[in-house]
Amino acid sequence: MSDKQQKLQINIARTAGFCFGVKRAVDMATDNAKAGKKVYMLGHIVHNELVVDRLKRQGIRFVDQLDEIDSDGTLMIRAHGTVPETYTDAEAKDLEVVDATCPMVLEIHHLVKELADDGYRIIIIGDHDHQEVKGIAGQVEDPIIVANPEEVNQRLPHILKKAGVVVQSTQNIFNVQAIVRELVPRVQNLHVVNTICGPTKSHQKEIHKMPNDNDVIIIVGSFMSANTKRLTSISKELNPRTYQVEKAADIQPEWFQGAETVGVSAGASTPDWLIEEVVERLQSIAA
Ligand code: SF4
Repeated sequence: MSDKQQKLQINIARTAGFCFGVKRAVDMATDNAKAGKKVYMLGHIVHNELVVDRLKRQGIRFVDQLDEIDSDGTLMIRAHGTVPETYTDAEAKDLEVVDATCPMVLEIHHLVKELADDGYRIIIIGDHDHQEVKGIAGQVEDPIIVANPEEVNQRLPHILKKAGVVVQSTQNIFNVQAIVRELVPRVQNLHVVNTICGPTKSHQKEIHKMPNDNDVIIIVGSFMSANTKRLTSISKELNPRTYQVEKAADIQPEWFQGAETVGVSAGASTPDWLIEEVVERLQSIAA
């Protein structure tokens, strides 16, 4: 999609913003709240404070533990998924559960269980503290989590006979390749399944091209979002005139001096309305 301006051409990434899984989860939360349910979420639905604030205004409550949920409340499981105990604990409390776990994350859950049943030791490539990784890890006994190539030595001190590798859906493929290279000499029978999801793959492909095609790049998203920060760092390496903004007001007109084109992309936790506000601000600067 592109929007032609007299002096500054604005090119919006096709893959910018909410991925399918997050959009689905946000819609499920708002639909249930509109239907009059007391919707609770454990932790934030996405790493974006502006989105969370908007959902709070729609009546959705965010809590840290199940004990904070009223008995007539509805527990909403986020797109990243969760550990099996969350379901059993919710059942014990007799809470209604609405499960918005992304189908692509559920596929990873099924896959690790299958691999574990076939005798593979599970290795998860992902960020230790991320909810999706914790949810995948919770499906099997004693998985090994590896976040970067340097950790491989530390986490696998001995040669393994048989290991099955899955990947957090939003991982950077270059990090995955570097980790797998380190794993090859340490595992005799290594079975790797690239579980980076389709939307993330398209996003990463586009962000490797866009910075070379535009004079300036604007990445929209929260500084709390690992996924958005990853996009910004990839873009900055290719085009130093890359700026990450959380909202339209953060944009400075002097960033565009002498520029003819600006590319706009956004992390998977950034909603369309924030991207639209940024584009409107760029249009007013260009006018
Ligand atoms: S990043 Fe991919 S797997 Fe994760 S919620 Fe979005 S679509 Fe689903």
